[in-house]
Amino acid sequence: MEGVKNNTLTKDKFSLIRKLIEKNGFKFTKQRKLILEQFFLADRHLSMEEIYQRLKENNIGLATVYRNVKIFSSIGIVKEIAVDGVSYYELKIYSKKPLHIHFQCVKCNDIIDIDEKEIALEYLKLNKTIEDINDLKIYDANIMFIGLCKRCREVNKCQDR
Ligand SMILES: [Zn+2]
Ligand SMILES: [Zn+2]
Repeated sequence: MEGVKNNTLTKDKFSLIRKLIEKNGFKFTKQRKLILEQFFLADRHLSMEEIYQRLKENNIGLATVYRNVKIFSSIGIVKEIAVDGVSYYELKIYSKKPLHIHFQCVKCNDIIDIDEKEIALEYLKLNKTIEDINDLKIYDANIMFIGLCKRCREVNKCQDR
């Protein structure tokens, strides 16, 4: 039953994304749908390479992934997060966490979403304050904290002993 419900939901999401793609003069092809599906399935940041790895069995090449993700990014379906010359992408619309901060570990390069409720509220407040003080309107934000993740800190602690 749960599966059926999820299916309908995904279908609704795709019909809206389809409209958005067509409104921008592109066709909603099977390839584009497959690429977009990966973002829903992964629910995390994906690099072009990771998307390609997930789709190579479907005969979708890296160049095709690249071209289409760039299109999705230009029409605001996905958001780009650039880290050390590598771009990661995540859903911008339908994201379960639309406004969040990122953390990158310098050791394992993992990117973590910081999306706890209390932090999100502080973040919204910060956005509002910046808008008010500077008399501007914020559409989006890219904040990246850099340091050591929990796992790598544990390893460090063990080595220190
Ligand atoms: Zn780490
Ligand atoms: Zn994120």
